[in-house]
Amino acid sequence: MQIDHVVCAFCGCVCDDIRVTVEGDRITQVKNACALGRTWFLSHSEPSGLPVARIGGKPASLGQGIDEAARCLARARYPLLYGLSSTSCEAQRLSVALADLLGACVDCCTSVCHGPSGMAMQGVGEPTCTLGEVKNRADLVIFWGCNPGESHPRHMARYSVMPKGMFVPEGRKGRTVVLVDVRATASARAADLFLQIRPGKDFEALWALQALANGVALEREAVADTGLTLEQLADLADRMMRCRFGVLFVGQGLTQTRGKHFNTTAAFLLTRALNSHTKFALMAMRGHGNVTGIDNVMGWQTGFPFAVNFSLGYPRFSPGEFTAVDLLIRREADAALVVASDPASSLPARAARRLAEIPTIVLDTHESETTRIARVAFITSTAGIHAEGTVYRMDNIPIRLRKVLDSRFPSDEDVLGRLGARVKELRAC
Ligand code: SF4
Repeated sequence: MQIDHVVCAFCGCVCDDIRVTVEGDRITQVKNACALGRTWFLSHSEPSGLPVARIGGKPASLGQGIDEAARCLARARYPLLYGLSSTSCEAQRLSVALADLLGACVDCCTSVCHGPSGMAMQGVGEPTCTLGEVKNRADLVIFWGCNPGESHPRHMARYSVMPKGMFVPEGRKGRTVVLVDVRATASARAADLFLQIRPGKDFEALWALQALANGVALEREAVADTGLTLEQLADLADRMMRCRFGVLFVGQGLTQTRGKHFNTTAAFLLTRALNSHTKFALMAMRGHGNVTGIDNVMGWQTGFPFAVNFSLGYPRFSPGEFTAVDLLIRREADAALVVASDPASSLPARAARRLAEIPTIVLDTHESETTRIARVAFITSTAGIHAEGTVYRMDNIPIRLRKVLDSRFPSDEDVLGRLGARVKELRAC
């Protein structure tokens, strides 16, 4: 059976034009997806031999797993909820509600990728647009500190570089593409102009561009430190001011290097300054399939995108204080619920070690380092393959996931709903 318009929820591009062929209980063919998306679809067959729940490594029923997980969380004095970037908004919503009920900290993968963009957004506002506007209007596309050719393989072909748009009828020929990075990555081949910046000098370069956009004359020596010449920066600023519609895509090369949120704040302020001359927008290159979704869900429910604490009965936002890595390294969290993430293999070793010391509950679609160290591990079905749900594309557009296969495992939403109900019962006692 062929199914069209299936959505790939692997990366922030959330391509919704995938065709899959299903034979029996397996996906056998995938069309239109990139290599990453194809692997995501083809590797998500049901994990055989794994029980739906394990307690202390031993198989358990779903009900037993829920009861033990609820007891661990209800007993904890300072529980942490973490992950949430690769599950549906429906499951994210229940997770934030559970954190509220527990008086817990809730943090998501944003804190270790685009948290600085979220902080800049809170500080100075986000001049942004949709990928549809980029496709139809952008004649200047700048990638800064990101490598879409490898991290988001269909981004250039589907949204930003190649497609013909309403006001860019020539497609690629009608656009100028610039890559700013510390090295010539695979994406440099697709760029008209590659500017190699000195590592850790993004803030200085962005601030210099903002000064040029504001008509400030700069000394040659003032920018020498950036690795770019004044002529290169003046040429880029000139292109930015003269284009009809420009877009600046920023990646972790900006958010996770020296300067962090100062870098993204400088990028946001540059974009704002450029809007005195033309139409310009900025967009974060979000990695995981629904990491934009958790920012939105946290935004609706708490007012903040990540690092939220409910211990006083209302949400408080404090990156560095309520972020998962900091809570674990300081040994403050005394229980953890991890949803659709593998922090034991991705967080710093000291934080991962703390997860092994405390009762950790994990929901994941497959075996991982975190399921191996967990007190309670649930295997759940995959949103977008075995379960429907909503995800947000990197431009904050919600897209409905389709279900293409049945599963014997419950969805994250099912498990979290039952877990929340059981915690309420225990709290009532
Ligand atoms: S670009 Fe991303 S969303 Fe699109 S098919 Fe590839 S992995 Fe999936």
